[in-house]
Amino acid sequence: MTIPFNRPYLVGRELDNITQAHAMGQLSGDGSFTRACHAWLERRTGTYKALLTHSCTAALEMAAILLDLQPGDEVIMPSFTFVSTANAFVLRGAVPVFVDIRPDTLNIDEALIEQAITPRTRAICVVHYAGVACEMDTIMAIAARHGLRVVEDAAQALLSQYKGRQLGSVGDLAALSFHETKNVISGEGGALLINDPALVERAEVIREKGTNRSRFFRGQVDKYTWVDLGSSYLPSELIAAFLAAQLEEADHITSRRLAIWDRYHAWAAPLEAAGLLRRPVIPAECTHNAHMYFLLLHGLEARTHFIEAMKAAGIGTVFHYIPLHSSPAGQRYGRTSGTLAHTDATSDGLVRLPLWIGLESLQEHVMQTAQRVLEQA
Ligand SMILES: *Cc1c(COP(=O)(O)O)cnc(C)c1O
Repeated sequence: MTIPFNRPYLVGRELDNITQAHAMGQLSGDGSFTRACHAWLERRTGTYKALLTHSCTAALEMAAILLDLQPGDEVIMPSFTFVSTANAFVLRGAVPVFVDIRPDTLNIDEALIEQAITPRTRAICVVHYAGVACEMDTIMAIAARHGLRVVEDAAQALLSQYKGRQLGSVGDLAALSFHETKNVISGEGGALLINDPALVERAEVIREKGTNRSRFFRGQVDKYTWVDLGSSYLPSELIAAFLAAQLEEADHITSRRLAIWDRYHAWAAPLEAAGLLRRPVIPAECTHNAHMYFLLLHGLEARTHFIEAMKAAGIGTVFHYIPLHSSPAGQRYGRTSGTLAHTDATSDGLVRLPLWIGLESLQEHVMQTAQRVLEQA
């Protein structure tokens, strides 16, 4: 592929930080680089407490443990998402209840949530698709009315805002990803953001193998021991050192990605007007982080042709997701509420264009090629 779909961006100071961590001699987790990442995330997202994890998947698993879900408890979520959104809860024996998405933002349709609530419902897990916020005021009000917890799968949403609030700081808990396909990266990596102070102490225990090791290090207990469920969810200091370098450049990364996103969006406007495709919709109350640029084409056949023609021209484009309600595990472990027509249609028609820092000089070629393919189809 001459122009790959993704290319991880390195800010330059990652290896210096890793060398420094190595020299300091603490390679396990929760050293000074981890603390620097926590402080950055707390300051910039406004969350009460941030904890680095191995991945967003791990942060979602921690959230599911923290919510004390029992077998048969239900969690309402979109079907149009990555598998980890559901898997984390299924590991606790909970049942994902899949609700359709809005055709504009491709986020969970808040108007369909209330009819999916049953006596077993415990939580709503929202996904801010492409870094664009769900309708959080409505969703938080529904949760408050029914005594439900809200988890934000904010894997794609670092530094995006809803009504001036940072995503990840709105629900009870949120999960971020620093996977190499996201905006700010550490290879694999993630964070749990805790907005309910009552959940912090137990989160620290769950992350440290079910022990009260964090309290021990703070001198709050004189020995540490096994006190609760847990696993090992904290990353090595080497990963935190890499991430700390990336976080320092997060605003720069976001603005360079936004410039590429805006260029795609202006280019695609006449194609949308000509009825060839639909473009992403950003509600007025949201600002976004340019996590992805996608086009919505007219169905599976048009999308397949587009991806193949782009590939033949040496340009990588990808689709996602196979909706969870139609995946083998989704059918085994979850159920649907209502029809999922927008989910199915989006899954068939959506294609993502390359969006990475360094693409700038090649973007004109990507757009010209895409336009030729679309106009000839
Ligand atoms: C990337 C992603 C995840 C998983 O992130 P990892 O860090 O790879 O575990 C989960 N949910 C969504 C919506 C994602 O985009």
